Amino acid sequence: MRLKKITLLSGDGIGPEVSHEGEKLLKVIEELFDYKFEIIKKDFGGIAIDKYGIPLPEDTLDSCKKSDAVLLAAIGGPKYDNLPREKRPETGLLGLRAGLNAFSNLRPVIAFDSLLDSSTIKKEILSGTDLIVVRELTGGLYFGKPKGIEIRNGERVGFNTMLYAESEIRRIAKVAFDIARKRKKKVTSTDKANILDVSQLWRDIVTEVSKDYKDVTLEHLYIDNASMQLIKNPRQFDVILAENLFGDILSDEGAMLTGSIGMLPSASMGDGSFPSIYEPVHGSAPDIAGKNLANPIAMILSIAMMFKYSFNDERIYDTILKSVKNILNEGYRTKDIQQDKCKLTGTVEMGDLICKQVKSFNCKV
Ligand code: NAD
Repeated sequence: MRLKKITLLSGDGIGPEVSHEGEKLLKVIEELFDYKFEIIKKDFGGIAIDKYGIPLPEDTLDSCKKSDAVLLAAIGGPKYDNLPREKRPETGLLGLRAGLNAFSNLRPVIAFDSLLDSSTIKKEILSGTDLIVVRELTGGLYFGKPKGIEIRNGERVGFNTMLYAESEIRRIAKVAFDIARKRKKKVTSTDKANILDVSQLWRDIVTEVSKDYKDVTLEHLYIDNASMQLIKNPRQFDVILAENLFGDILSDEGAMLTGSIGMLPSASMGDGSFPSIYEPVHGSAPDIAGKNLANPIAMILSIAMMFKYSFNDERIYDTILKSVKNILNEGYRTKDIQQDKCKLTGTVEMGDLICKQVKSFNCKV
C-alpha cells in the first residue's frame, strides 16, 4: 500500500467546487489501486485572509512542506482586490511557490480531438497540438528588486525589475531539455534578447545548457513572435521555455488552444527538496462560483500530473487522461466548452462521469 499525504488548498470562488471533484477522484483511486491518501485541508488565499488576516498562514505552509504533494484549486476574488499588496491572495501564491522553491511550472497544452470545435481557432490548425510550456516561476519580473511606486519629479512612477541569475536560468533550462528528451526532442526558448539585457543572458545560458543535450533541437524565438506562432501553427512546438511573465502570458494563450482555461492543468516543482504543487491554470472565476458551472477537468488533470511527476505512476496518469478523453468523446460538456448537440453537464455531474469512467477502465485492465 502506498501512503501519500496531500495538503489540499481549496481556496476561493470555484476552488472548493473543483476540489470536491478532485477528492471524489482520489477516493475512487483508493478503491481501485494500491493507494491510501491522507488529505489535509488548509486555508489559503481569501479564506485565510478572512480568518487570519493573511493569505498564507504559517501552519498552511508548514503542512505543505510536510506533504508528499500539494493540491491547490484557485484563490482570489473582487473582495480582496483593494487590499494592500502584501495582504492580497496573489501574494500568498508567490509566497507558497517561493516557500516550496517551486521554480519550474509545467503547463501541458493538448488539443483534444473532440474539443477542436470549441476553440476560436480553426480545427485544421489546432489538430494534433501537444506541447508543454515550461515557465520559470520564482524569478524574473514577479520577484526582482527594486520594485515599487514612488514619487519622482513630482509624479508617481511604478517600477519592477526583471532579474535572473545564471544559475536560475540554467536550472529551468535543464528541466525543459530533460522533458524534451522524453517527448519530441525540441525546445523553443523565448526571450526578448533584441531589447533586454536579461534576455541576452537567458539566451546565452540556454545555448550553453543545450550543449549537454545534443539529441534535442534548440530554437530561440522572440516572445512577440512566439506568441504569434502559437496561434499561427501550434503544432510546430514541443517544449516552450519561458521566463516567469512571458510564460504566464503564453500559457493563457495556450489555454485558448484547448477550448477553455477550465481544461488546463499545471505542476510547479523544484529540485525535490520540497513537494510539488499541482493546480489548474485558471483562477477563482467569481462570475460562476457556486453555480455548478465550473469545469473540473483542469483540476482532475492536475491530479493526473501529480501521479506522473510526484508518485511516478504513469498507469494512473494514463487512466485519468483516457477517462477524460472518453467522456468528452461521448459528448459531455460543461458550459465553458459547450457545443451544438452536446450533453450539457454541471461541475458535479462531470466529476461523477469521469470517476465512473476511471472505474470502468480499471475493470477492463
Ligand atoms: P479566471 O481564470 O478566474 O476567470 C477567467 C474566465 O474564465 C472567467 O470568465 C471564468 O468564468 C472562466 N473560467 C475560469 N476557470 C473556469 C473553469 N474551471 N470552468 C469554467 N470557466 C472558467 O481569471 P480572472 O477572472 O482574471 O481572475 C479571477 C480571480 O482569480 C482574481 O482574483 C485573480 O487574481 C484570481 N486568479 C487566481 C489564480 C490562481 O489561484 N492560481 C490564477 C489566476 C487568477
